[in-house]
Amino acid sequence: MRFVILGPPGAGKGSLAGLIKDMLGIVHISTGDMLREEMKKGSPLGLEIKGLIEKGSLVSDEIVTKLVEQKITTDPDLVKGFMLDGFPRTTHQAKDLDQILDKVSKPLDFVLCMEASLEIILSRLTGRRVCRKCGALFHIKNKPSKKLNVCDLCEGDLYQRSDDNEETIRKRMEVYEISTKPIIDYYSMQGKLIRISGEKETANVRNDLIKILNEDKSNKNQKFSRN
Ligand code: ADP
Ligand code: ZN
Repeated sequence: MRFVILGPPGAGKGSLAGLIKDMLGIVHISTGDMLREEMKKGSPLGLEIKGLIEKGSLVSDEIVTKLVEQKITTDPDLVKGFMLDGFPRTTHQAKDLDQILDKVSKPLDFVLCMEASLEIILSRLTGRRVCRKCGALFHIKNKPSKKLNVCDLCEGDLYQRSDDNEETIRKRMEVYEISTKPIIDYYSMQGKLIRISGEKETANVRNDLIKILNEDKSNKNQKFSRN
């Protein structure tokens, strides 16, 4: 299974991906995580990326697409499938992705579009905490760790992302509206778009997704048996 999870920051893309990757046995590719890894290295490229992320701006299509292409064309674990979280984020990236996937004969099965209100997004992102070691996500109110600032899964320390402050979140939302939203139409025209609300708890969003996928499967089977 191969799909993209699309949606504004804070819609719950990363949380959903974290919850379903083992269930589906597929790889979770997060360009945000890949860029933050690069940032940690402190290389000239890492520093450039840091500046852009902290402003809430996008990193250039060229840099991000190259990272994704490398992953898609070289990671042997991807045979079982993958979900892309945070990529594509511009129409340019979406077109390049189609080309890359065409070359390796691995087209997308569908694109999941998650949505949530600005109020929910702001509260989720300003309270979000991330494990420095394993990347697990917590929230100071909705999903607090058992021990303050310590990850339940690996005991790593939790931190607040430097772009999770109200000013940068508003900028990220603006960037989403202008640069990323047009991709919804792009995939809708391909007949690949599945819309889902990201406002419920992650486990409920997962259940909604399973239901949609099962319905889709049985629709296809019906069509198949009728022909
Ligand atoms: P969120 O979805 O919560 O905004 P991400 O971790 O996906 O968080 O992304 C964080 C930041 O990384 C973005 O604001 C942007 O600066 C950069 N980034 C991630 N993915 C891309 C991409 N596909 N193209 C350009 N920049 C990206
Ligand atoms: Zn952890």
